[in-house]
Amino acid sequence: MDDMFHFFAGRDQVTVRIPLVQPAAFPRHDLTQWPSDAGKPIVVPRQALLDAAGRMDGIVPRKWKQTLEEAQFLVPGNDRTSVTSFTIDRIFHMLGIVGVGKSTLRDTLTYYLVTEKQMRVTIVVGDVAEVLSLVEMFTKLGCAAAPVLGVTSREQHTQRLHRRIAGKDERNALAHDDPAFIHLSTSCALNALVHEDDAPISYNDAPCDFLRRQRKRKPKNSDRQLPDYTRLSYSCPFWGKCPRHHPARALVDADIWVTTPAGLVDGSVPRSQNAERIRYLELAARRSHLVIVDEADRVQMQLDQMFAPAVTLAGEASVSWLDQLSTHKIQELVAGRRIQLSNRDVENWTSALSTASMVTDRIYALLVSSWDLRKWVAWSYFNAWQLGSRFVSLLFADREEVLEKQAGKGKRKKERRPAPDEETALKMEAAKVRLNKIFDEFRKDPHGQRADMCDEAVALVELANGLIHTKRSRRTRSRVQEVLAILLGESAQLCWPEHEHEWAQVADKLELTIFLCALEPALALLTGMWPLVQAALNLKFNDLHRRPLDYGPLVPEAPMGNVLGFEFSTHGHDTGGVRSGELRLFRCSGVGRDLLSRIPDIPRPDGHPGSHVLLMSGSSWAGESTRYHILEPVDLVLEPSAEKMKRITDESALRLEFARHLGVPLTLSGADPDDRPEILQKMVAFFAERDDEPNSRFEYELVSLPPNRRHLLVLTGSYDEAKIVADAIAQAMHRDRVVRLMPDDEPDREDEDENAAPTLRRGDVSTLAGLPAAILVAPLLAVERGHNILDLDKEEAAIGTVYFLARPNPRPDDLRLAIQAINDWIMRSMADGSFSQRVRDAESIGAAGRELRHLARKEWYRVMGRSLAWSRLGDDRVSVTWDLLVLMWQVIGRLVRGGVEARVVLVDAAFAPGTAKALEQQKIPGQKVLVTDHDDVQTSLLLSIREVLGDYLTTGRAGEHSARECAIVTSLYAPLWHAIDRCVRTPTNGDSL
Ligand code: SF4
Repeated sequence: MDDMFHFFAGRDQVTVRIPLVQPAAFPRHDLTQWPSDAGKPIVVPRQALLDAAGRMDGIVPRKWKQTLEEAQFLVPGNDRTSVTSFTIDRIFHMLGIVGVGKSTLRDTLTYYLVTEKQMRVTIVVGDVAEVLSLVEMFTKLGCAAAPVLGVTSREQHTQRLHRRIAGKDERNALAHDDPAFIHLSTSCALNALVHEDDAPISYNDAPCDFLRRQRKRKPKNSDRQLPDYTRLSYSCPFWGKCPRHHPARALVDADIWVTTPAGLVDGSVPRSQNAERIRYLELAARRSHLVIVDEADRVQMQLDQMFAPAVTLAGEASVSWLDQLSTHKIQELVAGRRIQLSNRDVENWTSALSTASMVTDRIYALLVSSWDLRKWVAWSYFNAWQLGSRFVSLLFADREEVLEKQAGKGKRKKERRPAPDEETALKMEAAKVRLNKIFDEFRKDPHGQRADMCDEAVALVELANGLIHTKRSRRTRSRVQEVLAILLGESAQLCWPEHEHEWAQVADKLELTIFLCALEPALALLTGMWPLVQAALNLKFNDLHRRPLDYGPLVPEAPMGNVLGFEFSTHGHDTGGVRSGELRLFRCSGVGRDLLSRIPDIPRPDGHPGSHVLLMSGSSWAGESTRYHILEPVDLVLEPSAEKMKRITDESALRLEFARHLGVPLTLSGADPDDRPEILQKMVAFFAERDDEPNSRFEYELVSLPPNRRHLLVLTGSYDEAKIVADAIAQAMHRDRVVRLMPDDEPDREDEDENAAPTLRRGDVSTLAGLPAAILVAPLLAVERGHNILDLDKEEAAIGTVYFLARPNPRPDDLRLAIQAINDWIMRSMADGSFSQRVRDAESIGAAGRELRHLARKEWYRVMGRSLAWSRLGDDRVSVTWDLLVLMWQVIGRLVRGGVEARVVLVDAAFAPGTAKALEQQKIPGQKVLVTDHDDVQTSLLLSIREVLGDYLTTGRAGEHSARECAIVTSLYAPLWHAIDRCVRTPTNGDSL
């Protein structure tokens, strides 16, 4: 006896006949169970850890015990007390200099708690490759470990693993037998049951929890129109044995969960397994005695990002959020015979979706076809308010300034129109205020439903309707210009456009602004009404809304309110003409980083004790950094043995070695994107070609390194640049001498030039020492953290020298920086008491809230609009310096693993532009100069890092900071400061030969 079921695969309705089988029993999570000793502080004796490490060495030899024995456990402070045990109570913040053995401590502690104390531990690490290798290692150690992996990205992880194995010369996918594949199954048994005419079920369409059974009997009230299939969803009868759900089943009894932040925060227990709707984060907090967050500062950044999600509204590929929503809506309406539309909320929601889709198409069409518009919005994110106010400012901008910007680099006009006289300036100001008011009124009600709108705003409403619903014809364009004339009135003569084509550009910008004003309320309606229509339309995916709904009680609202913003980016460099790209929407909806410190509180509303949390990192104390600094007090610092610390501090060397072309030091940072490939080629020529010398600079450097560490790491700004550099090195030296890092996701290129440099997948970077290549070329951000790159004996870092081809610099269009800055701002104000004080001083809670919102908005617009050019950082310099020094130090830290020294070469003249200039202009070539004679903290990142760290490390200035803070900086960053200090105090000629 069979049953007929149906489900949707994309837009297609698929029918499947499933034999009546007895579903296999499978384990479910017991949410009521309290872990033994739940909530009690966890005491960890050092000796117990050493004993556990010794036992681990007997099973999986990795020098666990030796590494731990060498590490000192210090309480930060003046006397640097060494401890023999530590107690984890609620949140424990542990720091350790890069390479000290934090991962060893993480694994040993987990092993000790699981095997000795019968506790459960959840470990959060950076990527899925690390998750899988940790699960494998703990399984070998005899522990029950399972990964928490996102289901939607499973296919991607499976492909990554296949690619990595294929990259090791095992091209036959059938021979790929990595044990991790057991956690990455993507198969679906229903494929064997669908009709032979139906396409195979794609991974994301598998109806594990959403099968609808064919009705067997007519409903009693036969007049009612009901679908042929039940509205109720059924689970697949094969769930209990399905290989795809093996990890979900294994998690029930696993003592160790290993996961990524996304897997933990986003993933939820499958509906087939537990009826309760619960995220894995909540479950981990209920069942685990300890949650270990590795690289906690990176997790903090990821959480910020998760609560300021972005979706693609329109793009080349068919992944747009609105397309997905529309498809889903159609499926649901068809399944429900459109009965859902009798609900007014559903009707309004679907109408908002149609409007949003239509307006998005209009915006996309405008941006794709106009380079001028793309340039106008390319500088950062944009929204209706910003475009409105920028449109008004543009109208009254200095004409020559506008033309200069449009002409671009190298075509600047020298003559400028004289500044307007006082009377004209006043008139312009008044016109701006008036126009801004009109836009405000229109933005608040772009559909014109209020009766008290001014005539100009009404004209905008009518124009918006016309633009959205009619073709873009000549008539529409002339209507835009007519409305523009109405808006400007007499002030038209004060505006910069003089010629017809200039007015056409202005009209384009007005159209875009109007569309944005219409799109924002439609999107707000879509997300705002989501909960009201969720059940009726069976909505389950909404990247913009999902996290806030579940985590709303835990994560504070974004201080400036929920901000909607848009971004448009083209694929590759935008050289003008018609260019497609991606229109993205982001939404700040909470201070994501606050979730880290809330984990212990998650189960408390049920009276259930929460787990303790161990935060670990090498840089989660980072002064004024808005990205890395975690505000939890530091409880313990790990340091290498005094001997190793001394070697790292005294023997690590940093030098300026400017790549030159025709004697001129080359500057990469800040260069036009079009010029960067050529500059990189010249840099490679400087280091990889021999010229008149017997060896190239790279070769001299390699032979000067200890034999086990003869590898160079050459850092670029992106994967594309890594390819340019690696290929150039391959040509200048030998193809086998170099390897370039490539993302795990990138498919192998069939058309690769045979002279191109070989590649190494990011997930396999730890295998570098076994390759013939001596030079690894990689983007800076791809090697900031991750797998250790050790020599063949696994004792010391395999890389001896790192070359920074570009000075790291924050990207001005990177929204994450502004989000991190505003989150840091509110968290610090809560930590230092100024938030509470403001509330106490205000007349009422409401007044305090309004004031805070006002201040937060001010700060938000400040951080959004700030210049991130190094010379114009102003008050943000110290904070940005902290961000960059941590970034550089994390990479340099890859070279000090095993307690050895690092060599750091700064190639980009932007590291010390004044010094580079002085060397270029000197009369006697090769004469040495002092960096401090030609640069200062305003011009040189190097000197700024020296000053920022020196404030904690230099006697005399350290008084401004607590002894505890100074001790932390000494433990974490002293080697970097000493290396920089030695560099700037030693005269240099910017060359090593
Ligand atoms: S449980 Fe397994 S067999 Fe059933 S639909 Fe899901 S993937 Fe397919």
